[in-house]
Amino acid sequence: MEEEEPVTNCEALDRQLEPAVVPPSGALGSCLYFAFSEDRLLVYADPKGYLLPRLESFGELDLLFRDPHYLGQLDDVHCFAVDLQTATPPQGMALMGLRELYADFSEGIFQLAGRAFQVVNWDRTHHFCGRCGQNADYHESDRARRCPDCGLLSFPRVSPAVITLIHKGDEFLLARNARFPEGRYSIIAGFVEAGETLEEAVAREIYEEVGVEVSDITYRCSQSWPFPHSLMVGFTAAWAGRDIRIDEDEIVDAGWFSARHLPPSLPDGISISRRLIDSFLAKHP
Ligand SMILES: [Zn+2]
Repeated sequence: MEEEEPVTNCEALDRQLEPAVVPPSGALGSCLYFAFSEDRLLVYADPKGYLLPRLESFGELDLLFRDPHYLGQLDDVHCFAVDLQTATPPQGMALMGLRELYADFSEGIFQLAGRAFQVVNWDRTHHFCGRCGQNADYHESDRARRCPDCGLLSFPRVSPAVITLIHKGDEFLLARNARFPEGRYSIIAGFVEAGETLEEAVAREIYEEVGVEVSDITYRCSQSWPFPHSLMVGFTAAWAGRDIRIDEDEIVDAGWFSARHLPPSLPDGISISRRLIDSFLAKHP
């Protein structure tokens, strides 16, 4: 049985952003721009690492873009998300996938880039009312669009998914999904279905994928996962019965592992799955 404490390294996910939808009036000074072409972020390719553009106005870059969305203030700096209408970066700049930038960005900046991407992605897919097809307007104060004809409100979509470390004494369960890179194992994850509680989703996903029963389902931490709009909700659970029986459509192997017996590859440090695994291993060396 694990202690009922949160996973400590999830504290690193604390944000520094003061979020807002409407920018303050007056001059904002030099602002930070998170500009996306498709799902790639515009950065300066500096020899010391990738840097975000910080400009008085995004127009200085002379690129085609749609209206910036205000995100709020990070320390003293105002931040915007921008939908680029070009796939060609200017001289000295590059378009990079978010995961490739993890090592160059602080946790706070990486989280903010994920938020910016979700705002841009929402804006791209909600021009029209989903009920009557009319052009939808921006809401005056919320991050939403409103249909001028039927009044339907459309907010950025968030899709909750549960991810669970199942423990049995000093061992924990890892599975290898058919889509994973060679040698990679991880803990069990899946999307929450309509009408389910998070705990029901945890028990169902685990039973479907690896056939075991669990008890003591305990919330640990969460992480926004902008690929493209998930909210990962992390749990631990105790093994409560049945042998492993894998769902062969999704899983190619699963087993019990420990600090002395680990697979060739674990998920990247960026992910909540790795945080949950590291937290378990720290308590069961
Ligand atoms: Zn409508």
